[in-house]
Amino acid sequence: MIIYFLAGVLILAGGIFWWKKIPYYIPILMYHRIACVENDRNSLSPEKFAWQLKYLFEHNFHTVTPDMLYAFYSEGRPLPKNPILLTFDDGYMDNFTAALPLLEKYSMTAVVFPITKWVGRKNQWENFGKQETTTMNWANLQNWLDRGQTVASHTETHPFLPDCGQLQKELSGSKKTLEKNLNTAMSFLCYPYGKFDKTVIAAAKKAGYKAAFAIFENVNLKTVDLFALPRIPIPAHQSEWEFNLKISRLFIIFIALRKWERALKKYRKKFSPSSR
Ligand SMILES: [Zn+2]
Repeated sequence: MIIYFLAGVLILAGGIFWWKKIPYYIPILMYHRIACVENDRNSLSPEKFAWQLKYLFEHNFHTVTPDMLYAFYSEGRPLPKNPILLTFDDGYMDNFTAALPLLEKYSMTAVVFPITKWVGRKNQWENFGKQETTTMNWANLQNWLDRGQTVASHTETHPFLPDCGQLQKELSGSKKTLEKNLNTAMSFLCYPYGKFDKTVIAAAKKAGYKAAFAIFENVNLKTVDLFALPRIPIPAHQSEWEFNLKISRLFIIFIALRKWERALKKYRKKFSPSSR
């Protein structure tokens, strides 16, 4: 009996803990290509992207910029109602040709993360059998900025940063190249593959970044860490109901439960008699 009582108290305390975090949780969506590519989970069709933007528009969501998010977390500056941040990794040309007209249709903003050594080239850093395509060139990126969108850094060559021998160069070099070519300050970074550790964060701070984006799964959700901002991947086969869940502020509770479930499974595996 006492066990059930204690479990109840624990669940209630956990519920209150996460409920209080909800106002600080701003959904940050992670996209790659906006194109129809078979068997590529990182390519969302323009039709599905259009549906998602229309849904956000009709449900009174407001896109915010990384600067606005930073001011909210660091100074408490208020955000518009239902804030959401849209991000595109790697700077593919279809972000410019397919996504930008849709963003403009709904007066929305997004941030693109180009890889500086691969600007205006074929996507040959992806040696995983991906469909060949091109990335936005410097003129496209300048135009992207001029039309009210944001650009931020995604390193020079897209390495796994925790294993990278040229860590500082990747972070500082890409920042300088973007600033020089686009004539604007670069304060935000996106870790390739969402991978980072303490050394990477220290190097990002040293390079002069104000904040950095990661992926949900690798981030500690109990506190807001400006150098580990959690993003939610939107895959090619994103169902409509799951998209609705992902943009809800309650999604943080769903993710926390999923993390607990995984930790519990790991723990049970470790201590189950069969594993000995
Ligand atoms: Zn990337």
